[in-house]
Amino acid sequence: MSLREQLCEYGRRAVEQGLVIGTSGNLSVRQGELVAVTPSGVALDRLTPEMCPIVDIEGYLVEGDLQPSSETPMHLAVYETTAAQAIVHTHSVFGTVVATTMTELPAVHYNALLLGGVVRVAEYATYGTPELAANVRAALEGRQAALMANHGGVTIGATLEQAFEATRLLEWLCEVYVRGLSVGKPTILTDEQLAAVVDRALNPPAFPRRTP
Ligand SMILES: [Zn+2]
Repeated sequence: MSLREQLCEYGRRAVEQGLVIGTSGNLSVRQGELVAVTPSGVALDRLTPEMCPIVDIEGYLVEGDLQPSSETPMHLAVYETTAAQAIVHTHSVFGTVVATTMTELPAVHYNALLLGGVVRVAEYATYGTPELAANVRAALEGRQAALMANHGGVTIGATLEQAFEATRLLEWLCEVYVRGLSVGKPTILTDEQLAAVVDRALNPPAFPRRTP
């Protein structure tokens, strides 16, 4: 699948799975010095490959008639300082709830480790600005995901599939936390408990094979 076809595919999935509504949310995928990004003002389930602009890593438009997403500077800033090859940004409901009420998403489930642990909430700044890009970049340090205060979430990956799955996981973790709050006080995993999970994942016990 070409970079632009990938944007169409995952844009459609993002809408189908209720991660974005209207023209909100944007995706990008990188190859070398080029980045294919979703266009501004088009719903993510209405994209065709030709609609998706291609910019270079310095932000110059290389191909396409439509304007790149207004969050393109944020995407480029993240590519500049991480190994990310793809980025997904949505305004998903539970992620946005946490981003409007908390300064971080605590580790209520060990799967948070798949995103690098506690998810930071980047300080608020106007969408599309270099300030927001800088805040997101700082919040993403050592992580696969960050939340953006009063805005939404952003995840990165080595592929668009990985970044998309990270967005789904981020939303699931936020939903578990928010729903947990309505039942009681969610228990937060300790550093020791999280370290034990890492140890377990690195040293999985092998099942003994029964010999006939
Ligand atoms: Zn946004």
